Amino acid sequence: MSTLQEEISRRRTFAIISHPDAGKTTLTEKFLLYGGAIAQAGAVKGKKNARAAVSDWMEIEKQRGISVTSSVMQFQYEGFCINILDTPGHQDFSEDTYRTLMAADSAVMVIDGSKGVEAQTRKLFKVCAMRHIPIFTFVNKMDREAKDPFDLLDELENELGIETYAVNWPIGCGKEFQGVYNRRGQHIDFFSGVSGKRRADREEVLLDDPRVGELIGADRWQQLRDDVELLGAGREFDMDEVRRGRLSPVFFGSALTNFGVEPFLEAFLQMTPPPLSRTADCGVIDAFSPDFSAFVFKIQANMNKAHRDRLAFLRICSGKYEREAEVFHVQGGRKLRLSQPQQLMAQEREIIDEAYAGDIIGVFDPGIFSIGDTITTPGKKFRFAGIPTFPPEHFSRVSPKDTMKRKQFVKGTEQIAQEGAIQIFKVPDTGMEEVIVGVVGTLQFDVFRYRMHSEYGVELRMEGLPYEVLRYIRKSPVEEKELNLSSDVELLEDYRGHKLLVFSSPWAIDFTLRRNPGLELVETLQEL
Ligand code: GDP
Repeated sequence: MSTLQEEISRRRTFAIISHPDAGKTTLTEKFLLYGGAIAQAGAVKGKKNARAAVSDWMEIEKQRGISVTSSVMQFQYEGFCINILDTPGHQDFSEDTYRTLMAADSAVMVIDGSKGVEAQTRKLFKVCAMRHIPIFTFVNKMDREAKDPFDLLDELENELGIETYAVNWPIGCGKEFQGVYNRRGQHIDFFSGVSGKRRADREEVLLDDPRVGELIGADRWQQLRDDVELLGAGREFDMDEVRRGRLSPVFFGSALTNFGVEPFLEAFLQMTPPPLSRTADCGVIDAFSPDFSAFVFKIQANMNKAHRDRLAFLRICSGKYEREAEVFHVQGGRKLRLSQPQQLMAQEREIIDEAYAGDIIGVFDPGIFSIGDTITTPGKKFRFAGIPTFPPEHFSRVSPKDTMKRKQFVKGTEQIAQEGAIQIFKVPDTGMEEVIVGVVGTLQFDVFRYRMHSEYGVELRMEGLPYEVLRYIRKSPVEEKELNLSSDVELLEDYRGHKLLVFSSPWAIDFTLRRNPGLELVETLQEL
């Protein structure tokens, strides 16, 4: 095998998704510890530390040299080269969170064993499911009281619509937590209960061996045998189904006490695919092709007023990138050299000389890149399927406080919307003095306000709107303005003139459809 093939085949690029507090940071940290990328726990800055008064966005950003760095991490483990994509939670939740998932080849879903499937897990899962990427579940916090494991599996299946296969099975939980039984390896990993360093002991066991009863107690033994038998009656493991994103292997463990993390990492790395081929307008691009190609999935404005410097994040989709090589920016229609290509290693950024399919690199963006742009080897001109825009869930009516600042207001909102940081709409037949801004996460409003002030000198008047769902109008039985709308629905248009409705609740959609026979609504622009 050539080096190129070797390098690409050892890459694993995945996102970790979870609801805040399920243990994503803790799990990531343990991964990095195993990879030797960090020396001690606590080195990965959680977003909690980065949270500060939102009014001081600059300050947040400064602390976030971190956030940039903690958004992608690369480390080596047992011959694998691993790229972890972080999907910010809490108020950091934004469209970027979704876009990041476009760059991953698989996802690790962390679930809090006592809470099960939570709101944010559901949203992030939906985006992964849309791409049909493999999803691995880590049920965390088994050292605490947890829901019944069968109930947890049911919840995953019913709420997310994915089948599950329990790779290991917990023996008790909370104070009674004894460890997990590995179904395929037929061994028990014992939970030592000691936080941190000590590794759990492992025993090869046959479930019917009375010794198991001595080890975990007669009652637990009986229960374990019953559980495992019941699981055996369920579905079998099927790697193809895992690869298609229809079956999620489930692991139980406890990230904080470092229990079950390494077995999970090992099993996961064996099952998760190397860089996947991607669809472009000329057909499918094989990751192992020698020609370099990549797409931009995220742009991070650095908020440095003096430079307006921006970092574009590229997911390399095929071949090898070399630092001095010329590349072709398809959307810009010209050749260029990527400036300051950098990779993010746990805590530091470093300038890199080469990178391979599967890797994520950040490059300095003088304002030429947009989300979804394709970059190729000169002479190869194709475009990867674009990154969808995700429907906003929060809306605000926005206007400049000072009406004299109208021009800057228009310029700023359009510019920031173009960068993909917000989506803008307007009330039909009105001018640009007032726009409706839609976002996925509310922090985007604060960033928008801050940037409008610091970059365009415009103070904003912002009024939160009660809407939470948006639907584009595909077909209207009458002129849109004549539609029969209740007071909790508003007609808007986007900047390409597409008409849409915003609703204060999902129920209002049904109601509106019933009141307007012949009206057809769709969720995304792509469906129009
Ligand atoms: P994130 O918001 O998903 O990144 O969650 P964190 O990793 O920051 O964890 C949230 C809280 O749960 C922290 O206080 C962790 O120490 C705690 N935690 C994480 N994993 C475990 C676990 O396995 N057991 C227990 N008991 N607590 C955990």
